[in-house]
Amino acid sequence: MERGPQPGRTIALADLPQGVRAVLDRLGAEGYEAAIVGGCVRDLLRGTLPADWDVATAAVPEVVASLFGGASWENPFGTVTVRAGSDRIGVEVTTYRVESGYRDHRRPGAVRWGGSLEEDLARRDFTINAIAWLPPAPGTTAGRLVDPHGGLSDLGAGILRAVGDPDRRIGEDALRLLRAVRFAVRFGMRIDPGTEAAIRRNAGLAAGLSGERVRDELLRILASDRPEAPPSAGLRLLMDLAILPVILPELASLRGVPQAKALPGDAFDHSLRTVDALPADDPLLRLVGALHDVGKATTLADGHFIGHETIGARMVEAILRRLRFSKAQVSRAEHLVRHHMFAYRADWTDAAVRRFIRRVGAGSLPDLFALRRADNAASGVVEPARGGLDELRARVGAELASHPLSARQLAVRGDDLVEALGIVPGPPVGRILRRLLEAVLDDPLLNERASLLALAREWLPADQAAAAPPRRGPRPRARG
Ligand code: ATP
Ligand code: MG
Repeated sequence: MERGPQPGRTIALADLPQGVRAVLDRLGAEGYEAAIVGGCVRDLLRGTLPADWDVATAAVPEVVASLFGGASWENPFGTVTVRAGSDRIGVEVTTYRVESGYRDHRRPGAVRWGGSLEEDLARRDFTINAIAWLPPAPGTTAGRLVDPHGGLSDLGAGILRAVGDPDRRIGEDALRLLRAVRFAVRFGMRIDPGTEAAIRRNAGLAAGLSGERVRDELLRILASDRPEAPPSAGLRLLMDLAILPVILPELASLRGVPQAKALPGDAFDHSLRTVDALPADDPLLRLVGALHDVGKATTLADGHFIGHETIGARMVEAILRRLRFSKAQVSRAEHLVRHHMFAYRADWTDAAVRRFIRRVGAGSLPDLFALRRADNAASGVVEPARGGLDELRARVGAELASHPLSARQLAVRGDDLVEALGIVPGPPVGRILRRLLEAVLDDPLLNERASLLALAREWLPADQAAAAPPRRGPRPRARG
């Protein structure tokens, strides 16, 4: 649960998990200054439980790794992951560092160890993320906040402000554009006017970010699960700050595309309402919700968006590839967008329901129903008494429970055909199995061995004739 700022709140050793205390103790005992820093300090000051724990220290990575057995040190920034306490909590220990020479708005060109805590705080993105807490020195009881950039007061006032010169800070790492949006929405903060103006001025730099970094930040924005900070708030803020047209121009283009729906607004508003109606624990599905109508911007001309799901599916495939989603994720998204326009009616026969299941794939149905339910809610469609989504879902459930839906569930297999019909294994076997499946979808009672073999026997001659190579002979003479 996110809570509001807690003015006057302080941090005590007892607030820290045992593993974090163990890290601070050990480094301190060896004579190295060490503090908790960044997001975990911010969260403690807000009265919420930090998701992860970061310690910054004067000790260099080699020393940190040698002090804690089993510590892993994998990345070039010298972050050592330590599991020191009995709680085995992972603590990220990073040497005080100073970054310099950002050349490409993405990564520091050089990292230098050996700075001070103050220098380490100065390289952080926002004032609320640039506060450290030093544990009590030996013989004392209270720890000490180190807050050179006024993070505590910004936290209290609900202001998100860049550390130092905002243009420069965004210029160093354009991901800060997206992080600003995420933190502002998550904590219900206002962005300081100077920082906001710099974000607008530099929004174009987001074009240079790697797909992976944009993807991860976008998914975090979409995973927001508080009613007062719905994912649409993040997308809307990205739009207002001119970042969305850079990272997701396809979605931004829906602004101004008219919609004839019961609820007001354009296709952009509709898309954002769809996102909010999808579950927070599936941010990819939320992204699909945001993108399900992107085909509308290009099919607008026909007035009915004919084929927008097909065009949209291709667009979504391209978008998710660009954002470096996995192959499985890309195909999940593409498939859902392609099928989201199914038009169920109460007069569908059971066979039609079975064909629908086969077309969509049983495994995709829960996703597709969730997407359509959100789409309907976002359109102001009221679930009808008959012929609605719930009815289709119930019929699908009944079919799945009682009828074969994949070739594997047929009462005959390819081997049976080869044996009983004396045909050679190969494409004809697959073709006949598919036809048998069609037949069983139409009439489930056919699904027993004798009936299926009889049908196969009946079809075989025609199948083989159709598949035979064209006979050689004189070509028909061209006329004229
Ligand atoms: P969360 O609660 O989402 O983890 P966080 O603030 O802890 O938020 P992290 O990505 O875990 O974010 O980073 C930890 C700290 O490292 C931040 O609080 C900030 O001080 C610093 N930091 C992380 N990413 C950047 C960045 N791109 N630029 C500057 N500082 C950063
Ligand atoms: Mg963190």
